[in-house]
Amino acid sequence: MDARELAEKVRARKIDPVQSIKEVLQKIKRINAEYHYFTTICEENALEQAEQVKRNPKGKLAGVPVSVKDCICVKGVESAAGSRILEGYKPVFDATAVELLREEGAIIIGKTSQDEFGFGGFSANVGIGHQKPLNPFDRQRSCGGSSGGSAGITQKADFPHISLAESTGGSIVNPASFCGVVGLCPTYGAVSRYGLLDYANSLDKIGPMAKSIAEARLMFDIIAQHDEKDATSVPHGQRQKHKEKNPEEMRIGIISYVMGDGIAEPIQEHTKKVIERLRQKGIACKEVALPTVKEFAIATYYLLATAEASTNLAKYCGMRYGKAEQLKGNFNDYFSDVRSRNFGKEAKRRVILGTFARMAGYRDAYYLKAAKVRTKIIEEYRELFKSYDALLSPTVPILPPTFEEIGNLTPLAQYMLDALTVGPNLAGLPHMNLPSGNAQGLPVGTLLTADHFNEHILFRLGEILEG
Ligand code: GLN
Repeated sequence: MDARELAEKVRARKIDPVQSIKEVLQKIKRINAEYHYFTTICEENALEQAEQVKRNPKGKLAGVPVSVKDCICVKGVESAAGSRILEGYKPVFDATAVELLREEGAIIIGKTSQDEFGFGGFSANVGIGHQKPLNPFDRQRSCGGSSGGSAGITQKADFPHISLAESTGGSIVNPASFCGVVGLCPTYGAVSRYGLLDYANSLDKIGPMAKSIAEARLMFDIIAQHDEKDATSVPHGQRQKHKEKNPEEMRIGIISYVMGDGIAEPIQEHTKKVIERLRQKGIACKEVALPTVKEFAIATYYLLATAEASTNLAKYCGMRYGKAEQLKGNFNDYFSDVRSRNFGKEAKRRVILGTFARMAGYRDAYYLKAAKVRTKIIEEYRELFKSYDALLSPTVPILPPTFEEIGNLTPLAQYMLDALTVGPNLAGLPHMNLPSGNAQGLPVGTLLTADHFNEHILFRLGEILEG
């Protein structure tokens, strides 16, 4: 049974949502004890919602359990972006995406674990006191990140479930790939960011993770609404879509430079098989180059993302949100004390890097230059989408590594592993991970990217490959 069938049965009063949520809560508690996919399981809240759905069983997601990444605000439930500095922060409102899901009868079951504020690609940079989510196929290995908890529980759940995740530079597709599930990062501006604890405002996107394309699409259609509360939310009239095409009319660009060096052998093999399958369906696949993305995307992304992150984190000073310490000394001492004790190592590294990049005297050389290169990157993609419906590459260049292997990587080596996902994120393009097979008992994913607001092309291609 998938989420659609469950909702249908709940609406027809064939399934009691209270009973079914009770069972789900028992299951996720057991899973969580072993795999750490949740920072909070909101039992009381979930049961209350289930009672409401039972009284009034309606909506596309009637009675469907939904998990929500910790950085997305859920009313009355601790929402801490995986950080100790926000411990105890319970928002007094729902993020718009959460509100829309609830209106359709979804039941929020808990907040999923992540890299602190989204700072990482392995969910290994969890906040102080948090536990790393463990890969559902091998607990020694990473779930990917930063939406690692969302991906892990999506794979592990043997009940209908969809997760609400978030990406800045790859955080939806990367963990979806490591855990073998579908993850869609929508066009920037398609889903409201209102109620998101921002990492980098010009890059953050909220999107679904699910076991199937159909379920990811179901959630996307619900949350992709214009929202006046978010100034970057794009009005519906401006969401230009290309027309629907049959497979024989479609053209896919295979990103050439990612089919060789630096990509693990089994991942290359699987990607080649996917291309072969597309060709068999009559879809034209041709190699394309993205020279600016190849050369500059990582550097551009890490300058812009850290610059924005360092300003976003300034508000966590022990006065308004979350953690507070004993007030002593002057404000600067107090502020530094709270931040030193409660931010993890990677958060501190990013504050330092980001502050440096936008400091007077360096701003032109780093931040502004990166902003210009970002425009070039957008233009490069735009040119390709004149002739192609979608672009294809692997999602991550390696199989899910062990935590020991991750511990041996320098921060820079970790950043480099985002090479395939930061491009579409910088350009605000919709992209999706599609599970495409297994190697050494671990999942391999394919990344599909489409032009702005053309998520429907990704779903269509996903269905072709899924079927
Ligand atoms: N790994 C990238 C980073 O550390 C992307 C993470 C994300 O999308 N939040 O910034």
